[in-house]
Amino acid sequence: MYIEVTYRLVIMSLTNALAIGSEALKQIIDHAYAEYPYEVCGLMGGHDTTVEVAVPVANASLTPHTAFELERQAMVDEIIALQRANLEVNAIYHSHPNGPGEPSERDIAEATWPDAVYVIIGLADVEAPDVRAWMIRQGDVEPVEIVIAD
Ligand SMILES: [Zn+2]
Repeated sequence: MYIEVTYRLVIMSLTNALAIGSEALKQIIDHAYAEYPYEVCGLMGGHDTTVEVAVPVANASLTPHTAFELERQAMVDEIIALQRANLEVNAIYHSHPNGPGEPSERDIAEATWPDAVYVIIGLADVEAPDVRAWMIRQGDVEPVEIVIAD
């Protein structure tokens, strides 16, 4: 387990890019629009640095205008479903209904998945979604390039 995680981190820092299937990308943007002005969240699954699918998870935050919290049981159910489909969770997404696609101080403080990429959909300009990706590890934030795949 430990070796697998380390291996993935090495891959990530070498490439510093996340390939997201166009369908999955469209899906998370649609999800962000659908729940505006609340933040949405969910998981992304695939292999290594390629995202193949996105699955929404309910936002359990009591202040969903400005925060997200993956609803615990739904998250566990989706992780199991992804694993059964032979996919690993390699990214977590959420939206900023009125902000940029950059991690907030709270996002940085609360990031608990060092081996996943954080994808943020910023809707400050509602006609031009600002989708960006980040590695967040122990307070360190590194941008990850998003490459759109088919
Ligand atoms: Zn955020």
